[in-house]
Amino acid sequence: MNDLILTDTTLRPIADKVLAGQRLAFEDGIELYRSPDLLAVGWLANYIREKKHGNITYFNVNRHINPTNVCVAHCKLCAFGRDPDSPGAYTYALEEIYQRAEQGVREGATEFHIVGGLHPDLPFEYFLEMIRGLKQRCPGVHLKAFTMVEVHYFSRIAKISIEETLRRMKQAGVDSCPGGGAEIFHPRVRRIICDHKVSGQVWLNTAKKAHEIGLPSNATMLYGHVETEEERVDHLVKLREVQDQTHGFVAFIPLAFHPDNTPLSHIPKTTGYLDLRNIAVSRLLLDNFEHIKAYWIMLTPSIAQIALRFGANDLDGTVVEEKIYHDAGAKTSRVHAARRTRTPDPRRWSSSGRARHSLSPSRSLEDAASRSDYSAGPRVAHAQRLICVAFN
Ligand code: SF4
Repeated sequence: MNDLILTDTTLRPIADKVLAGQRLAFEDGIELYRSPDLLAVGWLANYIREKKHGNITYFNVNRHINPTNVCVAHCKLCAFGRDPDSPGAYTYALEEIYQRAEQGVREGATEFHIVGGLHPDLPFEYFLEMIRGLKQRCPGVHLKAFTMVEVHYFSRIAKISIEETLRRMKQAGVDSCPGGGAEIFHPRVRRIICDHKVSGQVWLNTAKKAHEIGLPSNATMLYGHVETEEERVDHLVKLREVQDQTHGFVAFIPLAFHPDNTPLSHIPKTTGYLDLRNIAVSRLLLDNFEHIKAYWIMLTPSIAQIALRFGANDLDGTVVEEKIYHDAGAKTSRVHAARRTRTPDPRRWSSSGRARHSLSPSRSLEDAASRSDYSAGPRVAHAQRLICVAFN
Protein backbone atom coordinates (compact mmCIF):
# COMPACT_ATOMS: atom_id res chain seq x y z
CA MET A 1 0.00 0.00 0.00
CA ASN A 2 2.97 2.26 0.50
CA ASP A 3 3.47 2.51 -3.23
CA LEU A 4 0.18 4.34 -3.86
CA ILE A 5 1.08 7.86 -4.92
CA LEU A 6 -1.86 10.20 -5.41
CA THR A 7 -1.20 13.21 -7.61
CA ASP A 8 -4.93 13.95 -7.44
CA THR A 9 -5.75 14.37 -3.77
CA THR A 10 -9.51 14.30 -4.43
CA LEU A 11 -9.01 10.54 -4.79
CA ARG A 12 -7.91 10.20 -1.15
CA PRO A 13 -11.39 9.52 0.36
CA ILE A 14 -12.04 6.96 -2.40
CA ALA A 15 -8.68 5.31 -1.82
CA ASP A 16 -9.48 5.11 1.89
CA LYS A 17 -12.78 3.38 1.13
CA VAL A 18 -11.16 0.92 -1.29
CA LEU A 19 -8.44 0.01 1.16
CA ALA A 20 -11.04 -0.42 3.91
CA GLY A 21 -13.15 -2.71 1.71
CA GLN A 22 -16.10 -0.31 1.61
CA ARG A 23 -18.57 0.03 -1.26
CA LEU A 24 -18.09 3.07 -3.51
CA ALA A 25 -20.93 5.50 -4.12
CA PHE A 26 -22.25 6.90 -7.42
CA GLU A 27 -20.30 10.14 -6.88
CA ASP A 28 -17.10 8.15 -6.32
CA GLY A 29 -17.61 6.57 -9.73
CA ILE A 30 -17.87 10.01 -11.34
CA GLU A 31 -14.71 11.10 -9.55
CA LEU A 32 -12.86 8.01 -10.77
CA TYR A 33 -13.88 8.77 -14.35
CA ARG A 34 -12.84 12.42 -14.06
CA SER A 35 -9.62 12.16 -12.12
CA PRO A 36 -6.52 13.03 -14.17
CA ASP A 37 -4.58 10.50 -12.09
CA LEU A 38 -5.27 7.38 -14.14
CA LEU A 39 -2.34 5.54 -12.64
CA ALA A 40 -3.77 5.93 -9.13
CA VAL A 41 -7.19 4.75 -10.33
CA GLY A 42 -5.46 1.76 -11.92
CA TRP A 43 -3.45 1.10 -8.77
CA LEU A 44 -6.63 0.92 -6.69
CA ALA A 45 -8.31 -1.39 -9.20
CA ASN A 46 -5.25 -3.62 -9.28
CA TYR A 47 -5.31 -3.73 -5.48
CA ILE A 48 -8.84 -5.20 -5.63
CA ARG A 49 -7.92 -7.59 -8.43
CA GLU A 50 -4.95 -8.93 -6.48
CA LYS A 51 -7.08 -9.29 -3.37
CA LYS A 52 -9.65 -11.34 -5.30
CA HIS A 53 -7.45 -13.32 -7.66
CA GLY A 54 -3.80 -13.01 -6.68
CA ASN A 55 -1.63 -13.60 -9.71
CA ILE A 56 -4.16 -15.63 -11.67
CA THR A 57 -5.67 -14.60 -14.99
CA TYR A 58 -8.47 -16.56 -16.62
CA PHE A 59 -9.27 -17.34 -20.19
CA ASN A 60 -11.19 -20.05 -21.96
CA VAL A 61 -10.70 -22.00 -25.12
CA ASN A 62 -13.79 -21.08 -27.05
CA ARG A 63 -15.30 -20.52 -30.45
CA HIS A 64 -17.81 -17.89 -31.51
CA ILE A 65 -20.84 -19.03 -33.44
CA ASN A 66 -22.96 -16.31 -35.06
CA PRO A 67 -25.81 -18.22 -36.72
CA THR A 68 -27.04 -15.22 -38.72
CA ASN A 69 -26.28 -11.56 -39.24
CA VAL A 70 -29.77 -10.82 -40.55
CA CYS A 71 -31.40 -8.46 -38.08
CA VAL A 72 -34.53 -6.38 -37.88
CA ALA A 73 -33.22 -3.99 -35.24
CA HIS A 74 -30.93 -1.66 -37.27
CA CYS A 75 -29.04 -0.38 -34.24
CA LYS A 76 -26.88 2.59 -35.18
CA LEU A 77 -24.02 1.16 -33.13
CA CYS A 78 -23.85 -1.96 -35.27
CA ALA A 79 -21.83 -2.92 -38.33
CA PHE A 80 -22.82 -6.57 -38.16
CA GLY A 81 -26.60 -6.66 -38.73
CA ARG A 82 -27.94 -6.79 -42.30
CA ASP A 83 -31.28 -6.76 -44.05
CA PRO A 84 -32.11 -10.18 -45.51
CA ASP A 85 -31.28 -9.18 -49.08
CA SER A 86 -28.28 -6.98 -48.35
CA PRO A 87 -24.85 -7.91 -49.64
CA GLY A 88 -23.04 -9.97 -47.03
CA ALA A 89 -26.20 -11.20 -45.32
CA TYR A 90 -25.90 -14.82 -44.25
CA THR A 91 -27.68 -17.48 -42.23
CA TYR A 92 -26.01 -20.79 -41.53
CA ALA A 93 -27.82 -24.03 -42.02
CA LEU A 94 -27.70 -26.13 -38.87
CA GLU A 95 -25.46 -28.77 -40.45
CA GLU A 96 -22.95 -26.08 -41.19
CA ILE A 97 -23.02 -24.88 -37.58
CA TYR A 98 -22.51 -28.43 -36.36
CA GLN A 99 -19.56 -28.97 -38.68
CA ARG A 100 -17.89 -25.82 -37.46
CA ALA A 101 -18.61 -26.71 -33.84
CA GLU A 102 -17.17 -30.19 -34.21
CA GLN A 103 -14.08 -28.71 -35.82
CA GLY A 104 -13.82 -26.40 -32.78
CA VAL A 105 -14.01 -29.36 -30.41
CA ARG A 106 -11.29 -31.16 -32.34
CA GLU A 107 -9.15 -28.05 -31.81
CA GLY A 108 -9.80 -28.06 -28.07
CA ALA A 109 -12.79 -25.72 -27.64
CA THR A 110 -14.66 -26.10 -24.37
CA GLU A 111 -17.18 -23.29 -24.84
CA PHE A 112 -19.32 -21.99 -27.69
CA HIS A 113 -20.29 -18.34 -27.49
CA ILE A 114 -23.44 -18.05 -29.59
CA VAL A 115 -25.04 -14.72 -30.53
CA GLY A 116 -26.61 -13.40 -33.70
CA GLY A 117 -29.06 -11.05 -35.34
CA LEU A 118 -32.81 -10.85 -34.76
CA HIS A 119 -33.92 -12.70 -37.89
CA PRO A 120 -37.40 -11.81 -39.17
CA ASP A 121 -38.24 -15.32 -40.39
CA LEU A 122 -36.32 -17.92 -38.40
CA PRO A 123 -38.54 -19.41 -35.69
CA PHE A 124 -37.46 -19.89 -32.07
CA GLU A 125 -37.41 -23.61 -32.81
CA TYR A 126 -34.45 -23.15 -35.21
CA PHE A 127 -32.38 -21.88 -32.30
CA LEU A 128 -33.61 -24.55 -29.88
CA GLU A 129 -32.81 -27.25 -32.39
CA MET A 130 -29.36 -25.74 -32.90
CA ILE A 131 -28.72 -25.93 -29.16
CA ARG A 132 -30.06 -29.50 -28.87
CA GLY A 133 -27.92 -30.55 -31.83
CA LEU A 134 -24.80 -28.93 -30.38
CA LYS A 135 -25.38 -30.52 -26.98
CA GLN A 136 -25.84 -33.92 -28.55
CA ARG A 137 -22.76 -33.67 -30.77
CA CYS A 138 -20.48 -31.83 -28.32
CA PRO A 139 -21.78 -32.87 -24.88
CA GLY A 140 -18.80 -31.60 -22.89
CA VAL A 141 -18.89 -28.09 -24.30
CA HIS A 142 -20.38 -25.22 -22.33
CA LEU A 143 -23.07 -23.46 -24.37
CA LYS A 144 -23.18 -19.72 -23.67
CA ALA A 145 -25.99 -18.65 -25.91
CA PHE A 146 -28.31 -15.72 -26.66
CA THR A 147 -28.17 -12.24 -25.21
CA MET A 148 -31.06 -10.77 -23.24
CA VAL A 149 -32.03 -8.94 -26.43
CA GLU A 150 -32.33 -12.23 -28.31
CA VAL A 151 -34.21 -13.83 -25.42
CA HIS A 152 -36.73 -11.00 -25.51
CA TYR A 153 -37.06 -11.28 -29.30
CA PHE A 154 -37.59 -15.07 -29.11
CA SER A 155 -40.34 -14.56 -26.54
CA ARG A 156 -42.05 -12.12 -28.93
CA ILE A 157 -41.87 -14.30 -32.02
CA ALA A 158 -42.82 -17.46 -30.11
CA LYS A 159 -45.56 -15.57 -28.23
CA ILE A 160 -44.50 -16.97 -24.87
CA SER A 161 -43.31 -15.31 -21.68
CA ILE A 162 -39.68 -14.46 -21.01
CA GLU A 163 -39.63 -17.11 -18.26
CA GLU A 164 -40.94 -19.77 -20.62
CA THR A 165 -38.43 -18.73 -23.29
CA LEU A 166 -35.58 -19.07 -20.83
CA ARG A 167 -36.90 -22.39 -19.56
CA ARG A 168 -37.03 -23.83 -23.08
CA MET A 169 -33.52 -22.58 -23.76
CA LYS A 170 -32.26 -24.24 -20.60
CA GLN A 171 -34.11 -27.44 -21.38
CA ALA A 172 -32.55 -27.52 -24.85
CA GLY A 173 -29.06 -27.29 -23.34
CA VAL A 174 -28.11 -23.63 -22.87
CA ASP A 175 -25.73 -23.41 -19.90
CA SER A 176 -25.44 -19.65 -19.56
CA CYS A 177 -26.10 -16.40 -21.44
CA PRO A 178 -23.59 -13.91 -22.81
CA GLY A 179 -23.71 -10.31 -21.64
CA GLY A 180 -24.27 -8.44 -24.90
CA GLY A 181 -26.99 -5.98 -25.79
CA ALA A 182 -26.72 -4.05 -22.53
CA GLU A 183 -24.94 -1.16 -24.29
CA ILE A 184 -25.71 1.80 -21.95
CA PHE A 185 -28.95 1.42 -20.04
CA HIS A 186 -29.87 5.10 -19.97
CA PRO A 187 -32.85 5.84 -22.31
CA ARG A 188 -31.24 9.00 -23.74
CA VAL A 189 -28.34 6.96 -25.06
CA ARG A 190 -30.45 4.05 -26.27
CA ARG A 191 -32.60 6.43 -28.30
CA ILE A 192 -29.48 7.48 -30.21
CA ILE A 193 -27.52 4.26 -30.61
CA CYS A 194 -30.11 1.46 -30.56
CA ASP A 195 -33.64 2.83 -30.54
CA HIS A 196 -35.28 -0.43 -31.65
CA LYS A 197 -33.58 -2.54 -29.03
CA VAL A 198 -35.17 -3.49 -25.70
CA SER A 199 -34.93 -0.85 -22.98
CA GLY A 200 -32.27 -1.02 -20.32
CA GLN A 201 -34.88 -1.98 -17.76
CA VAL A 202 -36.12 -4.88 -19.89
CA TRP A 203 -32.53 -6.08 -20.32
CA LEU A 204 -32.02 -6.02 -16.55
CA ASN A 205 -35.34 -7.73 -15.83
CA THR A 206 -34.58 -10.45 -18.37
CA ALA A 207 -31.15 -11.04 -16.82
CA LYS A 208 -32.79 -11.28 -13.41
CA LYS A 209 -35.23 -13.90 -14.68
CA ALA A 210 -32.42 -15.87 -16.31
CA HIS A 211 -30.50 -15.94 -13.05
CA GLU A 212 -33.63 -16.94 -11.12
CA ILE A 213 -34.20 -20.01 -13.28
CA GLY A 214 -30.56 -21.05 -13.00
CA LEU A 215 -28.99 -19.53 -16.11
CA PRO A 216 -26.04 -17.38 -15.09
CA SER A 217 -24.94 -14.64 -17.47
CA ASN A 218 -22.30 -12.09 -18.17
CA ALA A 219 -22.92 -8.34 -18.42
CA THR A 220 -21.40 -5.75 -20.73
CA MET A 221 -21.25 -1.99 -21.19
CA LEU A 222 -20.54 -0.42 -24.58
CA TYR A 223 -18.62 2.81 -23.99
CA GLY A 224 -16.96 5.46 -26.11
CA HIS A 225 -19.84 6.81 -28.21
CA VAL A 226 -22.40 9.38 -26.99
CA GLU A 227 -22.65 8.44 -23.34
CA THR A 228 -21.66 10.68 -20.43
CA GLU A 229 -19.68 9.65 -17.38
CA GLU A 230 -22.89 9.82 -15.32
CA GLU A 231 -24.58 7.41 -17.71
CA ARG A 232 -21.69 4.96 -17.43
CA VAL A 233 -21.78 5.06 -13.65
CA ASP A 234 -25.57 4.70 -13.70
CA HIS A 235 -25.12 1.57 -15.86
CA LEU A 236 -22.59 0.06 -13.48
CA VAL A 237 -24.64 0.83 -10.38
CA LYS A 238 -27.75 -0.75 -11.93
CA LEU A 239 -25.79 -3.92 -12.66
CA ARG A 240 -24.46 -3.94 -9.11
CA GLU A 241 -28.00 -3.69 -7.76
CA VAL A 242 -29.16 -6.70 -9.77
CA GLN A 243 -26.06 -8.64 -8.75
CA ASP A 244 -26.87 -7.94 -5.09
CA GLN A 245 -30.23 -9.63 -5.66
CA THR A 246 -29.30 -12.58 -7.87
CA HIS A 247 -25.53 -13.17 -7.76
CA GLY A 248 -26.06 -14.49 -11.27
CA PHE A 249 -23.53 -12.39 -13.19
CA VAL A 250 -20.29 -14.22 -13.75
CA ALA A 251 -18.19 -11.57 -15.43
CA PHE A 252 -18.42 -7.95 -16.52
CA ILE A 253 -16.99 -6.95 -19.89
CA PRO A 254 -16.51 -3.28 -20.77
CA LEU A 255 -16.71 -3.11 -24.58
CA ALA A 256 -14.98 -0.34 -26.51
CA PHE A 257 -17.20 1.08 -29.25
CA HIS A 258 -15.87 0.44 -32.76
CA PRO A 259 -17.46 3.02 -35.10
CA ASP A 260 -16.25 1.86 -38.54
CA ASN A 261 -19.00 0.90 -40.98
CA THR A 262 -21.72 2.08 -38.59
CA PRO A 263 -23.97 5.16 -38.94
CA LEU A 264 -21.92 6.56 -36.05
CA SER A 265 -18.64 6.36 -37.95
CA HIS A 266 -17.95 10.06 -37.28
CA ILE A 267 -17.31 9.23 -33.61
CA PRO A 268 -13.60 8.80 -32.90
CA LYS A 269 -12.34 5.43 -31.71
CA THR A 270 -11.64 4.99 -28.01
CA THR A 271 -8.14 5.58 -26.72
CA GLY A 272 -6.09 3.18 -24.62
CA TYR A 273 -6.44 5.74 -21.84
CA LEU A 274 -10.25 5.47 -21.90
CA ASP A 275 -10.13 1.67 -22.25
CA LEU A 276 -7.94 1.28 -19.18
CA ARG A 277 -10.05 3.70 -17.19
CA ASN A 278 -13.23 1.75 -17.94
CA ILE A 279 -11.60 -1.49 -16.85
CA ALA A 280 -10.39 0.13 -13.64
CA VAL A 281 -13.61 1.95 -12.74
CA SER A 282 -15.68 -1.18 -13.35
CA ARG A 283 -13.38 -3.21 -11.11
CA LEU A 284 -13.76 -0.62 -8.37
CA LEU A 285 -17.54 -0.08 -8.60
CA LEU A 286 -18.59 -3.68 -9.23
CA ASP A 287 -17.47 -5.01 -5.88
CA ASN A 288 -19.88 -7.96 -6.15
CA PHE A 289 -18.59 -9.18 -9.54
CA GLU A 290 -15.88 -11.82 -9.42
CA HIS A 291 -14.45 -11.27 -12.88
CA ILE A 292 -13.68 -8.26 -15.06
CA LYS A 293 -12.78 -9.16 -18.61
CA ALA A 294 -10.38 -7.37 -20.90
CA TYR A 295 -11.85 -8.45 -24.22
CA TRP A 296 -8.63 -8.49 -26.23
CA ILE A 297 -10.42 -8.68 -29.58
CA MET A 298 -11.69 -5.13 -29.06
CA LEU A 299 -8.92 -3.72 -26.93
CA THR A 300 -5.98 -5.19 -28.84
CA PRO A 301 -3.72 -7.71 -27.12
CA SER A 302 -1.35 -4.92 -26.01
CA ILE A 303 -4.00 -2.92 -24.14
CA ALA A 304 -5.48 -6.14 -22.77
CA GLN A 305 -2.08 -7.01 -21.31
CA ILE A 306 -1.86 -3.62 -19.58
CA ALA A 307 -5.49 -3.99 -18.42
CA LEU A 308 -4.35 -6.91 -16.28
CA ARG A 309 -2.70 -4.27 -14.08
CA PHE A 310 -5.80 -2.06 -14.16
CA GLY A 311 -8.29 -4.47 -12.63
CA ALA A 312 -8.96 -7.08 -15.30
CA ASN A 313 -8.41 -10.71 -14.32
CA ASP A 314 -9.84 -12.42 -17.40
CA LEU A 315 -8.96 -12.18 -21.09
CA ASP A 316 -12.14 -13.81 -22.41
CA GLY A 317 -11.41 -16.61 -24.86
CA THR A 318 -9.29 -17.75 -27.71
CA VAL A 319 -12.29 -16.93 -29.97
CA VAL A 320 -10.53 -17.94 -33.24
CA GLU A 321 -13.15 -16.46 -35.57
CA GLU A 322 -14.83 -13.15 -34.74
CA LYS A 323 -17.24 -11.24 -36.92
CA ILE A 324 -19.16 -8.63 -34.93
CA TYR A 325 -16.35 -6.26 -34.01
CA HIS A 326 -14.30 -6.92 -37.09
CA ASP A 327 -17.23 -5.73 -39.18
CA ALA A 328 -16.94 -2.53 -37.12
CA GLY A 329 -13.24 -2.14 -37.77
CA ALA A 330 -11.50 -4.11 -35.00
CA LYS A 331 -7.89 -4.44 -36.08
CA THR A 332 -7.05 -7.63 -34.22
CA SER A 333 -6.58 -10.62 -36.46
CA ARG A 334 -9.72 -12.38 -37.61
CA VAL A 335 -7.66 -15.54 -37.43
CA HIS A 336 -9.78 -17.60 -39.73
CA ALA A 337 -11.37 -15.30 -42.26
CA ALA A 338 -15.11 -15.08 -41.77
CA ARG A 339 -16.82 -17.50 -44.05
CA ARG A 340 -19.78 -15.77 -45.58
CA THR A 341 -22.68 -17.53 -47.11
CA ARG A 342 -25.69 -16.21 -48.85
CA THR A 343 -28.92 -16.06 -46.92
CA PRO A 344 -30.69 -19.40 -47.22
CA ASP A 345 -34.37 -19.89 -47.53
CA PRO A 346 -35.54 -19.91 -43.86
CA ARG A 347 -37.76 -22.86 -44.69
CA ARG A 348 -34.59 -24.87 -45.31
CA TRP A 349 -32.93 -24.53 -41.93
CA SER A 350 -33.59 -28.08 -40.83
CA SER A 351 -30.56 -29.90 -39.53
CA SER A 352 -31.47 -32.82 -41.71
CA GLY A 353 -31.27 -30.64 -44.81
CA ARG A 354 -27.95 -30.14 -46.55
CA ALA A 355 -26.20 -26.83 -46.23
CA ARG A 356 -26.81 -25.20 -49.56
CA HIS A 357 -24.06 -22.65 -49.50
CA SER A 358 -20.58 -23.08 -50.66
CA LEU A 359 -18.04 -21.58 -48.34
CA SER A 360 -15.15 -19.52 -49.40
CA PRO A 361 -11.89 -21.15 -48.37
CA SER A 362 -10.83 -20.16 -44.90
CA ARG A 363 -7.56 -18.38 -44.43
CA SER A 364 -5.56 -19.12 -41.36
CA LEU A 365 -4.02 -16.03 -39.86
CA GLU A 366 -1.68 -15.59 -36.96
CA ASP A 367 -3.19 -15.62 -33.48
CA ALA A 368 -2.39 -16.25 -29.88
CA ALA A 369 -4.98 -18.97 -29.92
CA SER A 370 -2.78 -21.16 -31.99
CA ARG A 371 0.01 -21.04 -29.45
CA SER A 372 0.57 -24.00 -27.26
CA ASP A 373 -0.07 -22.06 -24.03
CA TYR A 374 -3.68 -21.68 -25.13
CA SER A 375 -4.44 -25.23 -26.02
CA ALA A 376 -4.90 -26.48 -22.47
CA GLY A 377 -8.23 -27.50 -21.01
CA PRO A 378 -11.37 -25.66 -20.00
CA ARG A 379 -11.34 -22.22 -18.46
CA VAL A 380 -7.74 -22.52 -17.44
CA ALA A 381 -6.17 -20.34 -14.79
CA HIS A 382 -2.63 -19.31 -15.57
CA ALA A 383 -0.19 -16.90 -14.03
CA GLN A 384 -0.37 -13.49 -15.68
CA ARG A 385 3.22 -13.85 -16.75
CA LEU A 386 2.22 -16.77 -18.94
CA ILE A 387 -0.63 -14.84 -20.55
CA CYS A 388 1.69 -11.99 -21.37
CA VAL A 389 4.12 -14.40 -22.96
CA ALA A 390 1.31 -15.91 -24.99
CA PHE A 391 0.33 -12.56 -26.45
CA ASN A 392 3.82 -11.41 -27.31
S1 SF4 B 1 -26.51 -4.76 -32.36
FE1 SF4 B 1 -27.58 -6.74 -32.40
S2 SF4 B 1 -29.74 -6.21 -32.37
FE2 SF4 B 1 -28.65 -4.35 -33.00
S3 SF4 B 1 -28.61 -4.42 -35.26
FE3 SF4 B 1 -26.71 -5.37 -34.54
S4 SF4 B 1 -27.17 -7.55 -34.48
FE4 SF4 B 1 -29.15 -6.47 -34.53
